[in-house]
Amino acid sequence: MGGIKRQGGEMDDMRRAAEDVLIEAGALTKCDVHGDVYDCDSDRLASAYPIANSKISSGQIVLPSGWTRKDFTDVVKSVYEDNSNIDYCPSCDKNDRS
Ligand SMILES: [Zn+2]
Repeated sequence: MGGIKRQGGEMDDMRRAAEDVLIEAGALTKCDVHGDVYDCDSDRLASAYPIANSKISSGQIVLPSGWTRKDFTDVVKSVYEDNSNIDYCPSCDKNDRS
């Protein structure tokens, strides 16, 4: 009774890949200490898209079957938006206040 559950795993993989693209573009920053991702520079979101495309072209990012480049750039945008309201590492902030 496995059913089709691949969708969720694929989305997790693609969100992780999108996060890497955003970090590489400088749109998001990852805390070296905690690994938390937070907003860095919204102007750099645009440069994440060509990075995504070149990673797909070079095979560094392998899209699940049925996915288009547009689907992936949509994920890039949504991962950015999910983190764009955080402008500091939440864990570092907690430590600073303790
Ligand atoms: Zn931190």
